[in-house]
Amino acid sequence: MPAIPGLRVIRSAIDGYGVVATRDFAPGDVLTEVDGVMWREDELVDDRYSLWINDGVYFDMLDQTRWINHSCQPNAEIEADEDGRGGAWARIVAIRPIRAGEEITYDYAFTAEIAEPCRCGTPACRKWIVDEEELPRLMEILREQGPLEDPARPGVE
Ligand SMILES: [Zn+2]
Repeated sequence: MPAIPGLRVIRSAIDGYGVVATRDFAPGDVLTEVDGVMWREDELVDDRYSLWINDGVYFDMLDQTRWINHSCQPNAEIEADEDGRGGAWARIVAIRPIRAGEEITYDYAFTAEIAEPCRCGTPACRKWIVDEEELPRLMEILREQGPLEDPARPGVE
C-alpha cells in the first residue's frame, strides 16, 4: 500500500505503531481521507480498527490511518458519515496546528463497555480510552464488576 503523503507510520512512544506528520498542518486541514470498508453490526468482520459511523454502522480502516493512536488531548479528529449510496466515508482533520514530526492522535471516544486503559500521557489523560461523557458510567461499571479485563491485543505491540 503506498504511503499517504504527509503521513508516516512509526514506532510510537504512546503504544505500538503510530502515525506522524511529515509536514505542517493547520487547524481544519484534512490530513487524509480514510480508505475503508463499511459494515453493519450483524455482519461483524473485524472491529479492531473500525470507526463508529452511526448506530450499528462501522467503517473498517484499511490504510495507514488504522495505526493512529488515541489521545485524551488529540491534535486531530475524525469526520465520518454514511454516503447515502450504501457506503461510508471518513477523513482525519487537524484541530490544532500540527508540526512535522508530531504524532497524529484523535480521541477514540469508546463507549464504557469497550473502554481500554489509556497510556497517552497527556496532562488531561482520563486513564481510560473512553468518551468523556461515558466516564461516569465506566466508573460505575468498574465499581460494580471490578476491573475490566485488558483485552487480548493481537498484532504489533
Ligand atoms: Zn489518555
